[in-house]
Amino acid sequence: MFFAPTVLQATARRFIAGFPGLVTYAVKSNPDEMVVQNLVAAGIRGFDVASPHEIDMIRRLAPTAALHYNNPVRARAEIAHAVGADVKSWSVDSHSELAKLIEMVPAAGCEISVRYKLPVAGAAYNFGAKFGATVEVAAELLAKVAEAGFIPSLTFHPGTQCTDPMAWDAYIRAGAEICAQAGVKAVRLNVGGGFPSHRLNEVTPQLEATFALIDRVATEAFGADRPALICEPGRGLVADAFTLAAKVKAVRDDAHVFINDGVYGALTELPMIGVIDRTEVISTEGMKRDGLTRERIVFGPTCDSVDRLPGELSLPCDLQEGDYLVFHGMGAYSTATNTRFNGFGDVLLATTLSLR
Ligand SMILES: *Cc1c(COP(=O)(O)O)cnc(C)c1O
Repeated sequence: MFFAPTVLQATARRFIAGFPGLVTYAVKSNPDEMVVQNLVAAGIRGFDVASPHEIDMIRRLAPTAALHYNNPVRARAEIAHAVGADVKSWSVDSHSELAKLIEMVPAAGCEISVRYKLPVAGAAYNFGAKFGATVEVAAELLAKVAEAGFIPSLTFHPGTQCTDPMAWDAYIRAGAEICAQAGVKAVRLNVGGGFPSHRLNEVTPQLEATFALIDRVATEAFGADRPALICEPGRGLVADAFTLAAKVKAVRDDAHVFINDGVYGALTELPMIGVIDRTEVISTEGMKRDGLTRERIVFGPTCDSVDRLPGELSLPCDLQEGDYLVFHGMGAYSTATNTRFNGFGDVLLATTLSLR
């Protein structure tokens, strides 16, 4: 795995320059300490954290950064840990979990953001299936948050790798509807992660256009005194800064290609999100193979039959054992979810340039 800090910092600056509000980073997408350090160097001052471990890591690496504990379901011990770490921003999507926060978290200067969901398409998979209150329940929760003396805010996640900007349009307008139903003015609106990375040659993410849409729709929906905006990208910030080079272990009887990484390793997302076709094949001499291609089935190294990349990959006909199959845009949900299943999963991380 090759990490390019300059690419990460450039992407972070692009978000900071373009997004009409506070840019935070969803730590789970890639919690490598070098990633966090480079994001801090590029000016990221807030982090979406989901566990005591992530809270402690960010407190250590970025002591003054804002922590947004946006995992809406927490054990009491986790809440106590976050209170001890002085976390001042929380999300919630249910009456039962809000009751726990009201009981355990001092309200003064503390924000609770109500996470809501809509049945919208556009993302790689449906985040609303696990988290998020309906508009009606979100309105009840927002009213309760305000009544309990917390700073009332709203948050949503349109779904990861969301290539349809209209998802944000629908969500932001629903946020205004929740405020109207609750009779509460939201102080902040967190428009989530979901910003897509560049996975397919044919589909270039339109980051700035999405920022402009969010900016315009927020004003249309809420008026001039709209809530302050936050975003919390994971994938959109970190994916393009990493490139994976998987080694071809074997070409079995000139047919199937076996590589030393797969769906239990850094390529775990491919069956869920779809293939990455931003690939190249490099020979052991370092030459790019750019001749005729053919479709090939590609298997990972384990003995599990699901360990196969989805569909077939268009690969050079002269592909050979020992070549490297290079995947671009591999920084998110790769090293973070890599397993040691069947004794594989060693990841060698090389940094292309040191931290400035
Ligand atoms: C995972 C997650 C994110 C980041 O999502 P991406 O699709 O990687 O941008 C943001 N917010 C919350 C609450 C999350 O759980």
